[in-house]
Amino acid sequence: MLSCVLNAKRSRSGRIANHYFLDPFGCAKNQVDAESMMAALNEAGWQTSECAEADYIIINSCAFIESAKRESINAVLNYHRQYPYKKIVLAGCLAQRYKHELEKILPEATILFGTGNPEQIVTALGAGAPSHIDKGNRPLLSSLGSAYVKITEGCNNHCSFCAIPLIRGKLCSRPIDDIVSECQTLLERGIYELCLVGQDTASFGMDRGKQELPILLEKIATLPHKFWLRLLYLHPDHIPDSLFLYYREEPRFLPYFDIPLQHASGTMLDSMNRHGTSTSYIQLIEKIRTQVPNAVIRSTFLVGFPGETERDFRTLLRFQKTVSLDWLGCFCYSREEGTPAYCLSHHVPKQLALKRKQMLEEKQVAITVSHLDQLIGTTVAVLIEREIDKGIYIGRTYGQAPEVDGFTIVHSIVPLACGSVSHGIVQSREKYNLHVYSNGGK
Ligand code: SF4
Repeated sequence: MLSCVLNAKRSRSGRIANHYFLDPFGCAKNQVDAESMMAALNEAGWQTSECAEADYIIINSCAFIESAKRESINAVLNYHRQYPYKKIVLAGCLAQRYKHELEKILPEATILFGTGNPEQIVTALGAGAPSHIDKGNRPLLSSLGSAYVKITEGCNNHCSFCAIPLIRGKLCSRPIDDIVSECQTLLERGIYELCLVGQDTASFGMDRGKQELPILLEKIATLPHKFWLRLLYLHPDHIPDSLFLYYREEPRFLPYFDIPLQHASGTMLDSMNRHGTSTSYIQLIEKIRTQVPNAVIRSTFLVGFPGETERDFRTLLRFQKTVSLDWLGCFCYSREEGTPAYCLSHHVPKQLALKRKQMLEEKQVAITVSHLDQLIGTTVAVLIEREIDKGIYIGRTYGQAPEVDGFTIVHSIVPLACGSVSHGIVQSREKYNLHVYSNGGK
C-alpha cells in the first residue's frame, strides 16, 4: 500500500496528482472552457486518462435548451452507474444555471462547477491554486489544424427565448492584445484555422463603448503567418459595414459568414426581441454578396416560437427561397424558465414545430446542393483533418465550418499533411460532401 502511494506522481503543490477524464458537451464557446480546464489541471500536474483509469470524470455540460440539459444529466447518471466509486464533476452551463436545484436532486454529481472562470477548476478539485494558463498553448479538442478562439463572454442582446444571458451574464469582450497573442501562439504551434467565437462576435467591444471587431481583425492581419480566419456567431443587428472591407483585402479572412437570423416574420422577430426584418436581412445578405466575392453564408432559424402562425412560417419559407443560403440550421423552440418568452401564451404544439423544422430542412437540401454543385470542376483549398484510408482524407474547404456543414473527401496520389491545406479539383458531390482529387499541390 505505502509503495503505490510513494510512487504516485505529486503535483506542484505536493499533492497526489490525479487523473481526469473530460467529456465536453455544448457549443464551441463551451469547448474552449473545457480546453481551459484541461490546461489548468495539466499545469497543476494532473493528467488526462481514459475514463476507467480516471479519478475524476468531468462533464462540461450545456443548458441552452431542454434536450441539451437532458443529455448532460444523462451523462452524469450513466457515468455514475458505470463507475459508482469515481468522483463526478458536473461543470459548465447546467451547473451554473441550476446549482441549487442540482445540489438537492443530483447527488451523483460530487462537485458542481459553474462557468465564468474555467481555470478555477483546479481549486474546486482541491488541486491547489490555479496558475495563469497560456490560452494559446492549451490542449485542443478541435480537429487537427483548427482551434476556436473565444473573443467574448456573455451577451447583452436578451433575445426573449434565450437563457444564455442568465447563464453567461453580460457581454464581456477580451482585451485585443490577449486575443492576438493567443492567435499568434496557436499559429506558431501549427494551427492553420482560427475560428473566432462568442455569443455574438459582432458586438465585440461594445461593452467598452464601441464596435471593435474591425480593429481586432486589423490587428490579427498583422500576424505574418499563413492562416485561415473564420468568424462565427455574428448577430445581424451589429455587423459593421467596415467589416467587409477586410474581406476584400485580406485573403486569409475566409469569406464565410455565420449569421443566426432566427426568423423572417416581423411579428416573430419582434416577439423574440430581435430588431431586424426580412427586408433588412435580405439587404444584409445582398450587401455581403455584393461586397465580398465568393461569400458563403450560413444561418440558423427557430421554429415553433409561441404565437407562430402558419402565415409566419410561410413568410420564413418564402424568405428561405429568396435568400438561398449556403447552409441552414434549425431548432425547435424550447420553453426556458427565466427567459421573457417563458410566460408567452399561444404555444405551438411540439409535433407542429417538428414538422415545420423538417419542412425547412427538407427545402434547404436542394438549395445547399445547388450551391455545392457550382464548385464541381473548380480548384479548392482543403484543410486536411485526418486520413481515413490509404490516400483518402477528410477535410474542409473555406465554405465548410467545423461540425455544422458538410466536409470534403480528398483522394490524393501523394501523402498529405494533416492539419495543413492542400489544393485539388472538385470531381463530384455526395449529399453535402465534396469529393476532391489532389496531386498534393499546396
Ligand atoms: S444573441 Fe440572442 S440567442 Fe444569441 S446568445 Fe445572445 S441572447 Fe442568446
